[in-house]
Amino acid sequence: MKNLTYSKNDPENGCDSCSSKTCDSCGPVPSDNLFHPVFSRRNFGRTVLAASAGALLIGCGKSGKPAGEAVAKADSLAAGITPDPILVQESKGPILTLLSEFYKMGPGPSSSHTMGPMRITYDFYQRISKLPAEQLNKATGLKVHLFGSLSATGKGHGTDRASLAGLLGKSPADCPPQFLDDLATNPDKSYPVTLGPKTLNLTLKDIIFDATKGDFHHPNTMTCKLLAGPEVLYELEYYSVGGGFIEWKGYVIPEKGQPKYPYQHANELKKYLIDDNIPLGKLLLENEMAISGKSEKEIWEFLDQVAEVMIRGVETGLTVESVLPGPIKLHSKAAGMQLMKVNKGEAGRAITTVASYGFAMGEENARGHIIVTAPTAGSAGIIPAVLKSLRDIKVPTQKIREGFLAAAAIGYLCKHNATLSGAEGGCQAEVGVGSSMGAAMIAQARGEGPKVVSNAAESALEAHLGMTCDPVAGYVQVPCIERCAYGAVKAWTAYCIASEENPQERRVDLDTTIAAMALTAKEMNSKYKETSEGGLAVSVVLC
Ligand code: SF4
Repeated sequence: MKNLTYSKNDPENGCDSCSSKTCDSCGPVPSDNLFHPVFSRRNFGRTVLAASAGALLIGCGKSGKPAGEAVAKADSLAAGITPDPILVQESKGPILTLLSEFYKMGPGPSSSHTMGPMRITYDFYQRISKLPAEQLNKATGLKVHLFGSLSATGKGHGTDRASLAGLLGKSPADCPPQFLDDLATNPDKSYPVTLGPKTLNLTLKDIIFDATKGDFHHPNTMTCKLLAGPEVLYELEYYSVGGGFIEWKGYVIPEKGQPKYPYQHANELKKYLIDDNIPLGKLLLENEMAISGKSEKEIWEFLDQVAEVMIRGVETGLTVESVLPGPIKLHSKAAGMQLMKVNKGEAGRAITTVASYGFAMGEENARGHIIVTAPTAGSAGIIPAVLKSLRDIKVPTQKIREGFLAAAAIGYLCKHNATLSGAEGGCQAEVGVGSSMGAAMIAQARGEGPKVVSNAAESALEAHLGMTCDPVAGYVQVPCIERCAYGAVKAWTAYCIASEENPQERRVDLDTTIAAMALTAKEMNSKYKETSEGGLAVSVVLC
C-alpha cells in the first residue's frame, strides 16, 4: 500500500524515490487527494466488485451520484468498514481549481524540475528588477543554489538552463526554444541581464548544484541571491512544490472565492446545464470569475495565451527533426509524418495529421522546450494536437476558448474524484484524462450539447482505463510521446462516436468512468506507476 500515499512532497516515498528522471506527473498531493490507505486489498476488491455490479444493475446518474459510488458505500457500511473516501466524497466541497493552476506554461520535460525552477528564477528576476536603482548599482552578480532533489537530478532535467533562462528575464510562457537550446549547447557562454541601471553577465556556473541532503523545508528547495561582492543585497528561498507550482519562504496561500455554480461530480454539473439550461461556457466562465476574482477579459486573454503557446509548440515540433535528449536516442517523428509519403486515403491522412500534431508537442516537451500542462507535461501533446486540428477546420476563437473551458472542467473532475498523476494512477490518469479533455474540447467547440460533451469525455476516458505508466529509462519519451498522438486521435474518435450515437442511449456516464479510473488506480501494481519497474520500462533493452 506504500504507493497509495505517494507524494512528491514526501521525501520518503515521493517523486524522488522513483526511477523516473524526467516525468513530472506526480504533482503535489492536493488537499482533496483521495488515496488514503483505508482498505486492505481484500476489502477493496470486494467493494470494487460491488461497485461494478451496482453500476451495471442500477444504471447511471439518477441520484446525481455515480452508481458505483452509492453501491460501494452501502457495501462498505454493511461490511462494517470505514467507507473509503475514494467512493464517499460528500465532505470534499466544491471544485475550486482555476485555469491558471491547470494550464501551466513553461519548459518541459518536468514541471517540478524545469518549469518550477524557471518560474522561480523569473519571479526573482521580477522582484529584483523593482529594487531601488542605488541598490542595483552595487550589484556584481546573481547566484542560484539548487538543493535536495533539484540538485540530485537537476542535470538530467535541465534544471540549470531553465533556472538561468528565468534569471535572464525570459518568461516561462514564451521563451524561444532556440534560446533554451543555446543555453544547453554553450555551457560556458555568458549572457547579459539588465537590472535597472546595471547589466550583469551570467553563465550556467551561476546556477550551483548544492547539497543534495539536508534539513530542507521542501525536497525541491532553491535560494536566489543578488550579490555585491561577498555581500548579499537580496535573497529569497523558494520551493518548487510540484506540477509547476512555486512557493517561497513566508508564502501565504491566496484566498479563493466560492463558485457561483458549485459542483463536485459531472452529474451535478449536468443538472445546471440540462435542468437549468445554463450553457457550459457561461457556467464555467462565471465560476472562474467568482473563484479567481478575474474579469472575463482577463480569462479570455489567459486562454488565448495558452492557445498561442500550444500552437507555437506544435508548429515548432513539426519543423524540427532531431534525436531527442537522453539515453534512448529516440528520433523525432512529427516532421517526417507531415510529408505523408504513403497514400492513405482521406481517413489515413486525417489520422496522420492529428497524430503528427501530438508527436510534435510531445517531442517539444522531450526537448525541454515550452509546453502547457494539460493535464501534465507527459500528456502535454494531446490538447495542442486537438487545438491545431480545430484551427485547421477554422473553428472560431470564441468556440475554442469555450472548448478549453470544457476540457478544464473534465480535468478538474478527474483531479477532484480520482487523480491526474501517473505516479498514483498510471497513464490512464495522464494520457487518459488528456484524451478525455480533448474529446470534450472538440465537442464543445463544435457546438454540441452537454450530454454529447460529457459522453465524448466518458468515451475517451473509458478507452484508456487501466493504461499503465512505464516510461523507458525514466524519460518521458517512450511510450509517452506516441501515447500523446494516440490520445489526440482517440479524442477525435470519442467525439465522432458521441456525436453520432443517441446521447440518451449511452450506458456508462462520466462519473462512473472517473470512479472506475480511481478504483483501477488504487488496484494498480506500483510497478506500473511511473517507477519504471514494469511494462515497457523493463522490456525495452537499450543498447
Ligand atoms: S507513461 Fe504516461 S503517465 Fe507515465 S510518464 Fe509517460 S505520459 Fe506520463
